[in-house]
Amino acid sequence: MEDPPEGGVKGARQIGVSSVTDEKLRARLLSEVMRASLRLDPDIVMLGEIRDFETATMAFRLALTGRQVYTTLHVYSALAIPQRIRDLGIEQYLVYDHHLLRGLFSQRLSRKLCPHCKIHWKEAAKIIPNYAEIMERTRAGAVMMKYHRAFGFEPNDRKQLDEPDLSNIYFSDVRGCDKCFEGRSGRTVLVEIVDADSQVMTYLRNAEMDKAREYWLTPQPEGLGGTSMLWHGIEKVLEGMLSPLDTEFELGPLATKHEITEVQKVLGVKYESR
Ligand SMILES: [Zn+2]
Repeated sequence: MEDPPEGGVKGARQIGVSSVTDEKLRARLLSEVMRASLRLDPDIVMLGEIRDFETATMAFRLALTGRQVYTTLHVYSALAIPQRIRDLGIEQYLVYDHHLLRGLFSQRLSRKLCPHCKIHWKEAAKIIPNYAEIMERTRAGAVMMKYHRAFGFEPNDRKQLDEPDLSNIYFSDVRGCDKCFEGRSGRTVLVEIVDADSQVMTYLRNAEMDKAREYWLTPQPEGLGGTSMLWHGIEKVLEGMLSPLDTEFELGPLATKHEITEVQKVLGVKYESR
């Protein structure tokens, strides 16, 4: 069900929902489409977008009646999805039921480095003025990602911080080549997925965002062993697919000031500005 269908989906029965501005008429049309779709007895329903109370209600009603429902909405992170749905007016007992709201996905697209003209960080030192700071941030982000993945978020003395492998880090050459535009070609997805359980939903219901985040990213079995969008971005930077600068443009700093200081305290400063 889309408003209107954006493209063909093979094997799916597609229904367009009329876009009208009159709220009452819209609600009536939507419930008609919903009744019609239930008569088709679908196993899986894809609802183009949740944008208001009516569409959100429809999504939850379909899920309650045992259909697998996939839908999208505009929100800044996976953990903020329940908040956003609450904001649209859906009752708490529905939103925080992990049997009902089972998976939370969030994604952004970032421009990929052109493989033909990307510049290794050693060369980039000459052309990017604040390259030392960027490399220290990338390094700290990679160190902390590895550390949290191994040990979770319980406070301890951080002696286990390890120097990451930064040998594959590349930057874009904005002059580009005949195979790309400004040193980038194509895009890649940065994604995070929360496989919801009762614990993460309890934290979210109590508005304990930090606790929910730490639990989600803590390795199993203590946590959910998740990967944040930031970590996915750092992984792709370490592989040389994304420039640290493009990744920061999409996601914000790869490490906080506090994290950089902590890493430098244990491992020393590695990249000096000249
Ligand atoms: Zn190129």
